[in-house]
This record gives sequence, C-alpha cells and structure tokens, in this order.
Amino acid sequence: MEFTSLGSGSGGNGTVIRAGNTTLLIDCGFSRRALQDRLNERCVAMEQLDAILVTHEHGDHLKGVPIVARSHQIPVYASRGTVDAMRQRISKFESVEYLLNEIEAGVAFRVKDVDVYPIDVPHDVKEPIQFVCRYNGAGVGVLTDCGSYTEEMVTHYSRVNGLLLETNHDSHMLATGPYPARIKQRVGGDFGHLNNRQSREFAQRIHHVNLQQLVLGHISQHNNERGLIEREFDNFPSGTSVTYASQDGGTDWLSVTSE
Ligand SMILES: [Zn+2]
Ligand SMILES: [Zn+2]
Repeated sequence: MEFTSLGSGSGGNGTVIRAGNTTLLIDCGFSRRALQDRLNERCVAMEQLDAILVTHEHGDHLKGVPIVARSHQIPVYASRGTVDAMRQRISKFESVEYLLNEIEAGVAFRVKDVDVYPIDVPHDVKEPIQFVCRYNGAGVGVLTDCGSYTEEMVTHYSRVNGLLLETNHDSHMLATGPYPARIKQRVGGDFGHLNNRQSREFAQRIHHVNLQQLVLGHISQHNNERGLIEREFDNFPSGTSVTYASQDGGTDWLSVTSE
C-alpha cells in the first residue's frame, strides 16, 4: 500500500491511498484546480479516483468534494451526520446526492480491492469519523481532527503499518497564543484537536514493530513549532520513520507492506 498527503492543516486536507487497483481520496479541502495540481505532482489523474471518503463537514476537509465528485462522477462516502450537514451547506445538493453513500462508524465496507473501516472520533461536528484502510494484510490510517482519543480508537489503529496522525498544537503555545479564549477552549478541548503530547501518547499506545511510517500533520501555523513536535517524538522507536505533512507540500508517496 502507498499513501501521500496532498496537504495537511486548517487550510485544506487531502490524502490519497493506493492499493491493488484502487485509489482512494480521503477528504478534499482544496479547490478542484488545487487538487488537480497536487494530484499531477504525484502522477495521479483525477479519473483514477475510485471514491472520496469524507471525515466530516469542516471546510478544510469538504470544500472541493462536491465539485470534484460531480465533475468526475466519483462516489462519495460519509456518515449520515456529515451528509446532513452537506445537505444544508452545498448549493445544488441534488446534483451530488446520487453519488453519496451513507456509512456508519464500526461498519466496514469495501471499495474495489480495499476494505475501509470508519472509526468514531470526538470532534465538534455532528458525526465525525476517521478511517483505516486495509489491503492484503497491510493497513494505512488517517487520524486528524479529534480532541481526545478513546480505547476503541487505540484498538482500531493498533495494527496499521502507516498512519497520518494529527499533532495540531502545543498546549502552552495555544494557551499563550493569539486566539480568543473561546477558540482556545474549542481547539484544546476534548472535541477539538490533538496536542503534541496526546499524539505522542497515542502513537506510543498503537506502536508495534511493523508501524513503518508515521506522518505528523494538521499542524497549527499559530500554535505549534516543528522543534516542539520533534522534541516530543525525539525518542520514538527507531524502526518507525517519522515525517511531517505540510500545508503546501503534504508528503511524498510513502509505502508500507504487511511484512
Ligand atoms: Zn481539520
Ligand atoms: Zn474539523
């Protein structure tokens, strides 16, 4: 399996996962043009996308979904809560509605060669989910936009070989930073975003000898610094490659195996 972040952060998110004959896009917080450019850089044609999996309705995850799905007839998978929010938010919803497939946390489904596991996470929207994708014994997960983590999440992510994990903010920088008190509370709360310390704890919990790629992303531009994240992950087990997904450049293609 291979995966690549097209960009990660509050300015837009998108992750491509490729396995067997299947190419999945998780979230599209970019315009169609920006998505096209980011796919081109990674030698992926828009026509190759077999499905768009949507984690939740925040604009940095949803923005380009309707237009991209509509223009290339790509099936979209989202929870009922996310679909409801899309109905209220998207103009000409009817023109995309027939492409929508409602999914439910805890109920796996398959897109061509890949099994997809939607996982319930704590975030301040109607019905947020995140995903683990599996193919031929290997697994790749995406976990961003959650203010805390549950034992159930630890179980779901504990066998992945590759993971894009949120390290949103440093709690001291958030507390002393420029955001208004209300936003600080939201971001730092149990339904906001993971801080560096929480991410490190979670990564430690799910770590195993076959966790090959750990990508840290959805990094706040105001409330975090690379050095602080590096310090937190400093002595992470050396068998795991730890890299970063940036807002503009995302990551290169990263591959994992089941071995
Ligand atoms: Zn987000
Ligand atoms: Zn969000």
